[in-house]
Amino acid sequence: MESRLPDINTEFINYRNEVRMALKSGNYRAMIGYINNLNALLPDHYQVKISTEEYNKIVKSKELLICPGCKKESNQDDIKVRNKLNPPFELLLSGNEYEKIWTCTACKEEIMMKNTEFMIEKLSKPHYFQIVPDPPTRSKSLTDMGISNSRFKILMQDWTYNCMAEIAHQESKYREEYVPKDTEFAETQDDNKLEEGMVVVEQ
Ligand SMILES: [Zn+2]
Repeated sequence: MESRLPDINTEFINYRNEVRMALKSGNYRAMIGYINNLNALLPDHYQVKISTEEYNKIVKSKELLICPGCKKESNQDDIKVRNKLNPPFELLLSGNEYEKIWTCTACKEEIMMKNTEFMIEKLSKPHYFQIVPDPPTRSKSLTDMGISNSRFKILMQDWTYNCMAEIAHQESKYREEYVPKDTEFAETQDDNKLEEGMVVVEQ
C-alpha cells in the first residue's frame, strides 16, 4: 500500500533529514520551516496542529480531581461543577455569594472546588493528541535571558522529538487508512473478488 501513496514518500524522507540536520546545527528557524513543510504533506485532517492554547485545553481536560475525603480521583468529564449558594455566615466570611462545588464520583460527597487538588491523568505511552504546543522561543526579556543556550537546546530538542513523533503517527495513520482510488481497485470491487482482509469503506 505504501507504494500506492501519492508521491510523498521521498519528500517525507527529505524533510525529515532536513529537520534532523537543522536541529543538529541549531538552525531552529529553518528547522521549524521544515517541520511545517513535512506537516503540510499530510491531508488536512491528518495534520498536527501547532498551538499552545489548544494544547493546554487538551491537557486541562486530562486533569483529575482528587476528593479530599476518600482520596479517589474523578474525571473532569464525569463531574459537573455547580454553584451553591453560601449560607449567610460563609457569605460574610468569604464575601462570595456562591461556592463552586462538584460531587465525588466515588463517595458521592459534595466537595468545594477550593478544597480540591488536581493531578494530570497519567496517559499510557505512547499517546498522541494531534496537537503540540508552539515551539519554545526566546525573547530579549530578562526571564528568558536566564535560559542558557544548552537549556534552550534541550527544550527545542524535546519539542522537536515530540512534534516529529506526532507527525509520524499521523503519517502512519494516513498510510493505514489510505484507500487507493486507482482503476485496479475499482475493477477488483466490480468483480466481487475482494481479497481476504481487505476493508471496504462504505460511502
Ligand atoms: Zn470522595
